[in-house]
Amino acid sequence: MNNNVETREFQTEIRQLLDIVINSLYTDRNIFLRELISNAADASEKLRYFKLTEENGDRLNLPLEISIQTDEKAHTLTISDNGIGMTKEELIENLGTIAHSGSKEFIRKLTEAKKDSEAGPVDLSLIGQFGVGFYSAFMVADKVTIHTRSYKPDAESWVWTSDGTGTYSLAKGDKSTYGTSITLDLKSDAHNYSQAEEIKRIIKRYSSFVPFPIKVNGEKVNTVEAIWTKNPSQISDEEYTEFYKYIDNAYQEPFYKLHFTSDAPLSIRALLFVPSENYERLGFSRMERGVNLFCKKVLIQEKSEAIVPEWMRFVRGVIDSDDLPLNISRETLQDNALISKLNKVVTTRFLKFLDEQAKENPDKYKQFYEKFNRFLKEGAATDYTHRDALVKLLRFESNMTAKGELTSLEDYVGRMKEDQKAIYYVGGTNREVIESGPYLEVFKDKGIEVLYTYEAVDDYILDNLHEYKGKKIVAAEQDNAELPDIDLKETQTEGDLSEDDKKDLLSWFKETLGDKVTEVRVSKRLVDSPGVVLSAFGTHSMQKVMQLMSKDLTNIPAGILEINSRHPVIKGINELRKAGDPFAKEAAEQVLHNAQIAAGLIIDPRNMVNRLYSILERAVTKNN
Ligand code: ADP
Ligand code: MG
Repeated sequence: MNNNVETREFQTEIRQLLDIVINSLYTDRNIFLRELISNAADASEKLRYFKLTEENGDRLNLPLEISIQTDEKAHTLTISDNGIGMTKEELIENLGTIAHSGSKEFIRKLTEAKKDSEAGPVDLSLIGQFGVGFYSAFMVADKVTIHTRSYKPDAESWVWTSDGTGTYSLAKGDKSTYGTSITLDLKSDAHNYSQAEEIKRIIKRYSSFVPFPIKVNGEKVNTVEAIWTKNPSQISDEEYTEFYKYIDNAYQEPFYKLHFTSDAPLSIRALLFVPSENYERLGFSRMERGVNLFCKKVLIQEKSEAIVPEWMRFVRGVIDSDDLPLNISRETLQDNALISKLNKVVTTRFLKFLDEQAKENPDKYKQFYEKFNRFLKEGAATDYTHRDALVKLLRFESNMTAKGELTSLEDYVGRMKEDQKAIYYVGGTNREVIESGPYLEVFKDKGIEVLYTYEAVDDYILDNLHEYKGKKIVAAEQDNAELPDIDLKETQTEGDLSEDDKKDLLSWFKETLGDKVTEVRVSKRLVDSPGVVLSAFGTHSMQKVMQLMSKDLTNIPAGILEINSRHPVIKGINELRKAGDPFAKEAAEQVLHNAQIAAGLIIDPRNMVNRLYSILERAVTKNN
């Protein structure tokens, strides 16, 4: 044997992955072929780009095709490409380590899932989406051998081999042309993959859209098509779905599809898909951008960060523009004016598409919204260029919707009462909390619609928006003149405190509570609750975020306390105050605390528990 064989260890995560790949049952092992073919296609795509843009590109003249050889006697399968190949360093880097956090996260989840369901089959269908598709070869092979040579001038040929159990070896090879050839020695239960018919069948099923000819023992089996350049009327739904599955390494159908072309002012062919699942929501780490940028069918940048805004990272697809210069350097893409224009046109079109979908099929849009609303909210909070279009797509529950039903700002405005001053919203962790809280009382009383916000980001967006279609947007918990006034019913006015009592009680309250409040006043918005706190600045959820950041839970920002002078608790406190009973102070503090809790603020429980015991004690001993 060759003395120059070097043995190296796989990185820990890869060892864990290989352990699962080698020792598990799978739901579908055919995917290994799709992964190896798509790697060959990626390498060929890159070569095509370098051929066009590098100085001596003409020397790269081998046909760009993927050839597959089956050998039924030797039980082997070989997949070869004339792509960019790999240097020794690249072999070590690309097939021995993973740097991407998404891949590591995927492996971690896989390892957990495997532990949970000891003997059950493992679903590896996402392996390609998480950037570790190559290793699926070990589902069917005892041994994988790679002969490769980089396209770079003077590159040497290398041979990489591994049986997938912890180590791989590297040695010099004798491949005379650039490109890569991967040979699988098939496991005894995987000999079917050395049959040409079986391989052809799988390619037709999963790899029909690979943009290079795929030949099995010399016979071409796929139809090479960049379908995004075709006229939409010539493409069937099945073709779209197959294409989506190819570019996203996906098994499910896409949720939405948008294919549009334009020639002026810019030439654009765009084919965009919304996947059927949002993996970020399911706890995987942050997604990478998923739109590839092409010029006249030549890949310019994969997963381009320049072509769509960051909040659109859930979208998969292709954008092709004839106007792009082919030799644009990948580094300068980011600040290229043409790319920014393309980005704006495509994003605007995509948002318009979502708006149309929402109108045409609200139920389907709702399903989309439930999975992907995070991205729209992130955009509405950060992307000023498209904010209005994004806000239009947001949905909320309200006191006029049934639980789980959603409404838009547009529909809200359509339902507004003639004399209604503003669009109102109120925050809380969920519907029940909001509906049992004090902020809704005045709106219930007047039959006015209020949007419910369950997340701080909702409040942030609405707070920053200030108005929609010329109507002010007002947080119900803010100290604000735009709130409706309660018309007191006679019975309620009857039970009210006298004006003198009110005056004295208010100054007593302020004195008693001190710095904890900025002001105490009589409320015009309360019906059933004794008191409510109003935020002097921002919304309560913003204050809560600030509290959490400062890590000082006792530091509740002082707000305005409004009291309901018709409420028995407040009237009772007034009597105690007049009688000089010290218990009045404890009761007043508890009213403030309760109002802060109802506002969703974080309360230091220690003082409160003691006070509650003293209140309880008084209540249970009262009649003795
Ligand atoms: P991904 O394709 O998502 O990057 P893979 O695990 O499939 O992840 O492949 C890892 C890397 O190995 C690729 O990014 C590429 O750099 C390299 N590679 C794999 N197959 C080939 C090939 N046929 N030619 C050149 N490079 C390859
Ligand atoms: Mg791959």
